[in-house]
Amino acid sequence: MLESPTPHLFGRSTVATFQHDVARAAEAVAERVRTVRRPYSGASLTDLQGLVDAVDLDRPLGDTDAALDEVARLYLDHAVWFHEPGYVAHLNCPVALPALSAEVLLAAVNSSVDTYDQSTTGTLIERRLVDWAAGRIGFGPDADGVFTSGGTQSNLHGLLLAREASAATDLSRMRVLATAEAHFSVTQAAILLGLGRDAVVPVGTDAAGRMDPAALTRTLDDLVAYKLVPMAVVATAGTTDLGCVDPIADIANACARRGVWLHVDAAYGCGLLVSARRRHLLDGIERADSVTVDFHKSFFQPISSSAIIVRRSAAMRRIAHHADYLNPRTASVPNQVDKSLQTTRRFDALKLWMTLRTVGAEQLGAMFDRVVDLAEDAHGLLTDDPEFEVAAAPTLSTVLFRYRPAALDDAACDTLTPRLRARLFAEGEAIIAGTTREGRPWLKFTLLNPMTTVEHLRTVLHRVRAAGDLLLAEDDPRLATAVV
Ligand SMILES: *Cc1c(COP(=O)(O)O)cnc(C)c1O
Repeated sequence: MLESPTPHLFGRSTVATFQHDVARAAEAVAERVRTVRRPYSGASLTDLQGLVDAVDLDRPLGDTDAALDEVARLYLDHAVWFHEPGYVAHLNCPVALPALSAEVLLAAVNSSVDTYDQSTTGTLIERRLVDWAAGRIGFGPDADGVFTSGGTQSNLHGLLLAREASAATDLSRMRVLATAEAHFSVTQAAILLGLGRDAVVPVGTDAAGRMDPAALTRTLDDLVAYKLVPMAVVATAGTTDLGCVDPIADIANACARRGVWLHVDAAYGCGLLVSARRRHLLDGIERADSVTVDFHKSFFQPISSSAIIVRRSAAMRRIAHHADYLNPRTASVPNQVDKSLQTTRRFDALKLWMTLRTVGAEQLGAMFDRVVDLAEDAHGLLTDDPEFEVAAAPTLSTVLFRYRPAALDDAACDTLTPRLRARLFAEGEAIIAGTTREGRPWLKFTLLNPMTTVEHLRTVLHRVRAAGDLLLAEDDPRLATAVV
């Protein structure tokens, strides 16, 4: 019957159910977090596939409590927990509590920030935050920007604006310059923008992996000599593997000389914007044309929370499309869809707003500084231990190393390293990232949890050693009997 409300939709007649459901969901997570002592259950993919496949999606359970219990078994029991100190793998952070309250609000209200008439203050709040971030970058009043789903989208957006700003029209001649350390999304963006697979030209680096400004100048000159068009230079502020920051001011000089668009990918390093001690690493960022910031990395925000910020608003307006049914050209209110690559879009900005209003920028910066300090300590621990090989000292919060007890040659270490990582994951006690440098596999700590201590890292290294020794013993039958 029409007048009987459906019990599973949010509305006036179901607010009590909504409160009950949210409280129970919070309790289910809280219960896990209270008891969990490792980042992962260690269940195998086969086991988890079995659990998920066993659910009959055509037979609903009928109430949220029952579905929640099922989901708690499927998901919460086997989730990877980023707040656990044994989690040191990727650029994931424990999330700011005020942002979680914001998630409840923005999900329930379900504002869509594509147009003003679907979001009202949601649009205005997002715009204030874009202005705030632009201010921190050092852009003037003409800056603009928009929230995005992540650094991948922000980089695509930045390079799209660069392409549209270019006087050239022949896509096949356009080139994007970045170091080999730049994020893969730069190459992906170039392909999506129709530039072709060889459009990203690698620029040389110094020994630490930072872009070499002299090499950049040479590469720019070479491209011009070959009648190619340098469409953009991508400087990375916080590379994913080494956590190094390209020298932005010098790069900005080279770009200015040639009139080339400078995009700074600060997806990882944006936390430096609020750091009291390391803001100088971003010197020159105020001269960029576009900047990627991932609040869901170094601002401790839940996924998704990212933005593309540009120095000149006209650049952003160049890609505006207007639809009569959504954002007519004649609109007298701000419609964020004018500058977004998305249409329907979450009001993710509310999370950062709640965090800034509760915690404040200074504290966020101190939290980021803390994980960078921790990386320095981790590097020290590894350097002091003769059984570990360690890469150069970190600038941000990643540390690359290999477990290499005496007499383990390169080839044996190459074989051991990925197996060691897989073994740790299967145990669930420590989750470490892996990467390859010059053809050799390495282990990687990515530290983004300010609650993690050096003692925690000592424990993780102890586990690395134990797992490594076990694997080596399994390979060597004499050692294996000794261990048994
Ligand atoms: C993480 C990262 C990205 C991609 O961001 P997502 O939010 O994962 O899409 C881009 N660039 C750098 C340097 C990153 O660290």
